Amino acid sequence: MPGHRAQTTRLNDGITAVDTEYERPLQDASHLIVEGGRAAFVDTGANNSVPLLLDALHQQGLDVTDVDYVFLTHIHLDHAGGAGRLMQKLPNALCVVHPRGIVHMIDPAKLIAGTEAVYGVEETRRMYGDIQPIDASRCVAPDDEQWFDLNGRQLQILYTEGHALHHYCLNDPASRGVFTGDSFGISYRELDTAAGPLIFPTTTPTHFDPDAAHVSVDRIMGCSPEQLYLTHYSRVRDLDRLAADMHAGIDAYTDIALANKDADVPLAGIKPAMSEYLKGCARAHGFKGDDDTLQAILEIDIELNAKGLVSWIQRLKKQGL
Ligand SMILES: [Zn+2]
Repeated sequence: MPGHRAQTTRLNDGITAVDTEYERPLQDASHLIVEGGRAAFVDTGANNSVPLLLDALHQQGLDVTDVDYVFLTHIHLDHAGGAGRLMQKLPNALCVVHPRGIVHMIDPAKLIAGTEAVYGVEETRRMYGDIQPIDASRCVAPDDEQWFDLNGRQLQILYTEGHALHHYCLNDPASRGVFTGDSFGISYRELDTAAGPLIFPTTTPTHFDPDAAHVSVDRIMGCSPEQLYLTHYSRVRDLDRLAADMHAGIDAYTDIALANKDADVPLAGIKPAMSEYLKGCARAHGFKGDDDTLQAILEIDIELNAKGLVSWIQRLKKQGL
């Protein structure tokens, strides 16, 4: 989309949220961190997002040569699908990707196949286009707790399983913040009310693990953050409440899954229960929009969360639990 201007929101401490315009506005964010003229992206959106990210860079008077890092919190394609194409535009950037994900960024064939298994071939093609590989020499697999230096600003990797095995968060002490990817749930700005942000876990197939998800929430809170930057969607505060809501949400999802574990078609029970639960949370939180609006905001997550819970109980059954 030549000439299409990126929708950006300047946050605190040199951080900007860039709307990747995934399926609708304010659904999926990339974050740009700028420190003294050097820059890093945290997550990229899909291929269509790349011109927007470059525009966001130019809006700040920066050039493609000024980007040192592309951090990928995890390799689900709504956050990493554009990484290969973006890296082609950024001659000095290293792509930092979890050791469990790095092979799939270098050779995305399996990643594409896995996405097709969730969304179907045509839909995957429509949503993600041609996923570009990243040259192995430009990828780094960080250790847990490894620090990266962005022009003097220290950024720390924290492995966080529960949403995906290949997930890390990025701790940014300079902003008293953590870039949480999908490890601290989803908080759409459309569902904000006088009570503040609403948050709920995301259990996209196929790695949901409730125990690990609880640990990850605690690990993030262990950084004593004042704000978190979520991929869906960007900055939230009031973190003690949100952490409690995340723990309660993970427990509620687990209950929904286990109640349907022995059904012939677990999805048939899990999906309506997930819908009822999430809509109930929004209503209890004071959301005043009509039912169609609420359905439109939540339908993708109802579907993905339900399918992710099915994958989890299938795994439990395989383990004989
Ligand atoms: Zn994800």
